[in-house]
Parts: sequence; structure tokens; C-alpha cells
Amino acid sequence: MKITFNKPYLSGKELYYISQAIHNGKTAGNQAFTKKCHAFFHKTYGFGKVLLTTSCTDALEMAALLLDIEPGDEVIMPSFTFVSTANAFVLRGAKIVFADSRADEPNIDATTIEALVTPKTKAIVVVHYAGIACDMDVIMAVAKKHNLYVIEDAAQSIDGYYKGKPLGGIGDIGAFSFHETKNIISGEGGLLILNDEKYHQRAEIIWEKGTNRAAFFRGEVDKYGWVDVGSSFLPSEMTAAFLYAQLENIQEIQAKRGELWQRYERELQPLQEKGHIQLPVVPDYSTNNWHIFYLLCKNLEERTALIRHLKGNGVHAVFHYLSLHKSPFYKDKHDGRELPHTDRYTNTLVRLPLFFELSEEQQSHIINCITSFYS
Ligand SMILES: *Cc1c(COP(=O)(O)O)cnc(C)c1O
Repeated sequence: MKITFNKPYLSGKELYYISQAIHNGKTAGNQAFTKKCHAFFHKTYGFGKVLLTTSCTDALEMAALLLDIEPGDEVIMPSFTFVSTANAFVLRGAKIVFADSRADEPNIDATTIEALVTPKTKAIVVVHYAGIACDMDVIMAVAKKHNLYVIEDAAQSIDGYYKGKPLGGIGDIGAFSFHETKNIISGEGGLLILNDEKYHQRAEIIWEKGTNRAAFFRGEVDKYGWVDVGSSFLPSEMTAAFLYAQLENIQEIQAKRGELWQRYERELQPLQEKGHIQLPVVPDYSTNNWHIFYLLCKNLEERTALIRHLKGNGVHAVFHYLSLHKSPFYKDKHDGRELPHTDRYTNTLVRLPLFFELSEEQQSHIINCITSFYS
């Protein structure tokens, strides 16, 4: 039996919608399918303004532009995250101040943030790892007290909630990813979520190469031209058409992922009770959007052996982020603080295959392989 780590879900309507986009004769960005996707996010999650982007990376870069992040500014974020979380701000010249993860789960430890604030701090970027919410009340209170922006890297968090509020919709700005490894996909793709009206107009300009083209097509201005900095951040209609076919099926996708996730949790519980592994912790304030099922091994050697054992049985399980504060690019720029929890997740976390088409039989095989490894 060969089981890949991921297999992109397809609703079956992707090609049909893409052909519609082509027949519409409008294949560049911000046309009918882009508007359908935007309407879905307004209606389903009540987001103020949203803009489809070509990736979550681009949405984060737009956030850094919108907030006028400049050389010398400091931005606080977790070290246990993807490079784009940091890169978007490094591109604007910011200094990244890495915070440690929580002891019980990989999200940023909100209680450690305030001690990292200096007069140069401009923003806090949080990452809802595995679609599990960070402790946003604590984070928003620190931001308010010190007058800082909050950006949610919600790349993994579509359909996740913190105390009833949709993730991506709590900070000043949020960003989703539709990369093929996420719950909802469009090959490459992303979404910028603007939770404060003061960013709406400028975001559209940055999105459209620094021009007021979007306002022009709405008839709000009588000519369009170069009015600000910007870039080409909007995806083509083919990407939006693919995405729309996915969004129509979000409930079915989430329900299936939820079943798979809960079966892993239930059937691996005995190994946790025997002290072999640690299963994911979901704090009371967070829902689970079933993005990642992970387990924690005792140490790096054991994790390497487990991944090898699974591979020998045809199962592709993978580790995740490598601490950014120790990365070749940032280690000399980091201030030298130890981040022990971050390093622990770097060394001990394993992600198991979790995708719509994973069969009952395949999942049984994965669970049996893990159980046999520990017996
Ligand atoms: C996937 C991911 C990204 C990058 O998303 P892209 O759409 O590939 O740019 C950024 N941050 C986190 C936390 C991610 O999981």
C-alpha cells in the first residue's frame, strides 16, 4: 500500500467553471468569478472587505505595504512558522523579533509577547497553526495597550473560529492560503481580509499595481492612473473559477476532514495514555478546522525512526517547520534568545496523511503502522 502525504481535493466542477471564465472572454483579474468568491467570504464569514490574491505570501506582502512597515520597525511573530510570515515584513526592512511557542501546542505563547515590545515595535503577526486559534483576546489587548497592528497569518485557518469569531477577521488584517496543501485550494492562491474600513481603498490600489483601476470600473472616478505604490497581486479568473468550485463544497470537505481527524485522535489515544506520543491540544477558545493532524514524539531520534518506519510501510508522513530563528538566513540577525518550545516542535512534530480521499482502509494501515512501531 502506498499512501501519499496529500492529495488535492477536486469537486468536479473546476474545469467547467474555468471554461466558463474563458468563454466569458474576461480572463484577467477582478471579473465575475473573483466577485463570486468575494461574495462567498462576505456572506459566509461576514468579513468586511476581502481581495483574492495570487498567494497568502502576496496577501502578507500587501499587509506590510498597507501598514507602511519601514526599515527599523520591529515585528513580533512566532519562530515556528512558514518563511513567508517573516519574509513579507523583511522585504520592507523590518527586524523580526521571534517569540516562542506555547508548551502545550505550537501556537505563539501570547503571554510572552508584551516583554518583547520596544518603542520600535510596529506589529504582531500571529499564525493559527493547524487552524487552531491563537489566544486572540490576550494578543489584541497587548496590541491595544502599545498601539500595535495585528496581522493574522490565517493561511491554514479557513473556517476556524476563536470564541465564535472567524479566524482572519479578528486582527487589523488577515490572510488565507489556497495553496494545494490547504483545505480549500486553487493551485496557488490567497485572500487578503481587511477588518478596518480605513484600509479598503488603499488595499484595492496596491492590489491593482498602484492604480485606482477598481474605482474607475465602478464609475467612482472618471480616469484611472498611478496613485500609490503597488504590484500585481490579483489572480486571473481561471484561478478564481477553480477556487469557486471548491468553496461551493466547503461543508462537505470540512466534514470529511473532521471525520478523519477524529478517528486518528480516537485510535491513537491508547499510545498517548501509555506515554509514547502526545496528541494535538485544542484550547477551549478555539474550534478545530481539521487542517493538520500531528503527533509529537519524545525526541528527534524517535521521530526520524517513526517517519522511516512509516516510509518502509508505504506511508508518507512528514515533519514541519524548522525554527526560523535558527535558519541560515536569520540566525545571525536573531537576538540570541533561546526558544525551547519552538525547537521542540521543530524536532518532534510529525504530520500524518489527511486528505478527502483517504480511505478507511488506508487510515487503518497508517494507525496500525504507528501502533506497531511503539509495541
Ligand atoms: C501555506 C502557508 C503560507 C504560504 O501560503 P502561500 O499561499 O503558499 O503563499 C504562509 N503561512 C503559513 C502559516 C502557511 O501555512
